[in-house]
Amino acid sequence: MHFARSATGRWSSFFSSIRFRLTLWFVIILSIVLGIFSLFIYASQSRDLRLDAVQRMQTKLDRLEAYFRSDAWQDSDLPPGNVPTIDEQTVVQPGDFILLSTADAQVLQNWGSIPQNLDSLVSGLVSAVGQAHNSTVYEQTVSVTDGSNSTRARSYLLLTVPILRHDAVVGFLILGSPSTLADQLRRLQLSLLFGSLGMLVIAFLGGIWLADRAMRPVSSITETARTISESDLSRRLNMQGRDELAQLAGTFDSMLSRLQKAFERQRQFVADASHELRTPLTIINLEVGRVLSGVRNQNDYRHALQVVNLESSRMTRLVNDLMTLARMDSGQTILQLRNTDLSEAALEAYERMSGLAEREEISLDVGEMLELRVRGDQQYLVQMISNLIENAIKYTPRGGRVRIETSLGGEPRSAVLRVSDTGPGIPAEHLPHLFERFYRVDASRARDSEDDLGSPTGTGLGLSIVSWIVRSHGGQVGVLSTPGQGATFEVSLPLLPT
Ligand code: ADP
Repeated sequence: MHFARSATGRWSSFFSSIRFRLTLWFVIILSIVLGIFSLFIYASQSRDLRLDAVQRMQTKLDRLEAYFRSDAWQDSDLPPGNVPTIDEQTVVQPGDFILLSTADAQVLQNWGSIPQNLDSLVSGLVSAVGQAHNSTVYEQTVSVTDGSNSTRARSYLLLTVPILRHDAVVGFLILGSPSTLADQLRRLQLSLLFGSLGMLVIAFLGGIWLADRAMRPVSSITETARTISESDLSRRLNMQGRDELAQLAGTFDSMLSRLQKAFERQRQFVADASHELRTPLTIINLEVGRVLSGVRNQNDYRHALQVVNLESSRMTRLVNDLMTLARMDSGQTILQLRNTDLSEAALEAYERMSGLAEREEISLDVGEMLELRVRGDQQYLVQMISNLIENAIKYTPRGGRVRIETSLGGEPRSAVLRVSDTGPGIPAEHLPHLFERFYRVDASRARDSEDDLGSPTGTGLGLSIVSWIVRSHGGQVGVLSTPGQGATFEVSLPLLPT
């Protein structure tokens, strides 16, 4: 039972396989070609054979005519009486017969084999020819009695020649000769049929073999793909060659590489995020443990709560940034792109950040602000600019200056926003990594102490968010910095045509 089911399954999977379908199509096309080819061969062969047979009849007739053109034949009238005597041995070939009839189908004489139903045969032929003056060839089955007195039905070619006197048909000479035409054509039909069938069988078997060979790499791709799991994305098909399947395997391999990288990034992201969360949790634990380990005065408790407050706001910020990035990565962040003014967004960010600048004793200046129309999401543009201003304030020592300005960029025409500060700047070796997640130049540099309660704390995610927003707007972000002389972050977005 089980065997029967698995055998049925194998057959049904064979019938639905590409191998089988390819071969089937191949065989169908081949059978159409063979059919057309056979029809053509059959038509041309049968025409040639027929012409050949008629030609042979004509030759016989020519010989006969030479005979009948004797004087007696020419000068006498038909019928009756002047029926020529001919030398049957030399003129009539074995199996042939010759009939002489009047114009109204009266048989006058016959030589050679003797057809049965002679009268009806002759009258049929004579009425078919009618008053035509040309000789006519028919093919017909006739029963004849030959020299050994045996009768058999054979296919005959019948050549009917009208005998003319003064342009009037006075009689007919009928030459019958056994024809092998039908047999030859039947043999041709059979050879074409069996030849074609044989070729189709060979083509089917050969096609299955070929398709099987061609499809073998697919099975190996399937096998490998089956063994690749989420935990082992390092396997590759590494298929050699330049054919379509090798290209498919190559595409599959590069897709696996991308997937592997994505998985690794995700793993790294989770590891970094937990690491980032562990630090504030450890600080809180230690601080709480310290104050609980004995009797403390009010200042101690106050200090401990300040530490807890600072670390929990650091965690809140980290979790918020993580959620923002996660939403961005998963495609859940949908930008509402509208015709917006970049300077307007910059001014909104300025207003949002001016309180922080005041607290940090940083002078926040607004430079030139041109109206620059871009296709953007106002809310996200404000968030991006706020992040840049916040960083500038955060990393610039008290008494320093932060400046925001917008301008028109060169080719291609773009809207440019610059946020520059008078802070410590960023060493050149860090510049290429600045927009990577969790990348921080030096965590201790942020002015982030307990007396600075409420000031922004670094998560290393702010610039990643900036970069994502800028890229989603089709723009670019870069940074110029000379250590000791501050940093300038420059964002350029495609300008809308006015
Ligand atoms: P963070 O939350 O730590 O500020 P960011 O992704 O915003 O993370 O910035 C990454 C790092 O780039 C920061 O840790 C800081 O070292 C450096 N950085 C960013 N902006 C400035 C700036 N204006 N001046 C100096 N360093 C900066």
